[in-house]
Amino acid sequence: MHQIVIIGAGPAGLTAAIYAARANLAPIVITGTLFGGQLALTTEVENFPGFPDGILGPELMELMKRQAERFGAEVRLGEVTDVTLTRYPFRLSLDGELLEAKSLIVATGASPRLLGVPGEHEFFGKGVSTCATCDGFFYRGKTVVVVGGGDSAVEEGTFLTRYASKVYIVHRRDRLRASQILQARAMKNEKISFIWDTVVDHIIGEEDKGVSAVHLRNVKTGAEEDLAVDGVFIAIGHVPNTKLFEGQLKLDEQGYIVTDTRMHTNIKGVFACGDCQDYIFRQAVTAAGTGCMAAIEAEKFLAEVEERAYPA
Ligand code: NAP
Repeated sequence: MHQIVIIGAGPAGLTAAIYAARANLAPIVITGTLFGGQLALTTEVENFPGFPDGILGPELMELMKRQAERFGAEVRLGEVTDVTLTRYPFRLSLDGELLEAKSLIVATGASPRLLGVPGEHEFFGKGVSTCATCDGFFYRGKTVVVVGGGDSAVEEGTFLTRYASKVYIVHRRDRLRASQILQARAMKNEKISFIWDTVVDHIIGEEDKGVSAVHLRNVKTGAEEDLAVDGVFIAIGHVPNTKLFEGQLKLDEQGYIVTDTRMHTNIKGVFACGDCQDYIFRQAVTAAGTGCMAAIEAEKFLAEVEERAYPA
């Protein structure tokens, strides 16, 4: 029987682990398939406070892990394949092994939706990015393309004009999904050009130099062309990693876990933090902040449980 099990080992889960471990709750952190979450896929992180010279994403995650372990957290590789939250204590199946937990912190994150076209995987981190806030800085004076037509694509496209000399927004339809205010701002921006009714069929580049072009196809006319670019930002939405909790935790229509301002879910004793519940900020530092909040609330919950039988 564990006091706290934390599912997910990105900045949210590992920060929750630091706080829970320092509260002597010996948390178990289950990493899932990607230790470090989205930061494991990022190169330089320049906006995490405390690292004025920047830090590599995987290194930051390793430091958070060490910090949690120092106080007694146990980080376990593996994937939770099943959870039962309708009985107490909660039950989890970790690669076939049964775990019981008095409280649960869900920090499973979100995965950027990808195009699934040739070159995307190959050049990820070498010109292909899913985070303008993280990587925009590297495109000073360069030409980039943003794929998507929602708020993220338009907002990121506008953000990228701070650095890039030219930003193309490629959208598969002739109308944006993004809110009017963001659209109007982008339309007015002279550095932005929209390419309508068009998809990226593949991403072109060289292994040592990275991306050099995208191959575009107009879905209405069938016309194809190569567009020379230095970077490709894919902003076609995120998918929260919450399938495991469907039917048990309250999710919004996009699948994000619904929490109150204190990270409580609809089930007492189950908390959620980071990108699995936040589709607005999606930053390492905000994920860490909500991870801290979830752990503090879990600690309070456990103290209550000691006093009176759950769930009365
Ligand atoms: P989104 O609203 O789901 O938009 C995704 C966009 O990508 C859509 O335009 C979609 O095209 C396109 N797309 C999806 N799959 C594609 C594919 N395989 N190939 C090419 N294009 C594809 O996602 P989002 O922009 O990340 O926004 C997610 C949520 O966060 C929204 O609720 C949004 O309002 C919110 N958000 C808000 C702000 C803000 O208020 N400042 C900023 C960012 C995000 P179609 O239009 O054809 O479906």
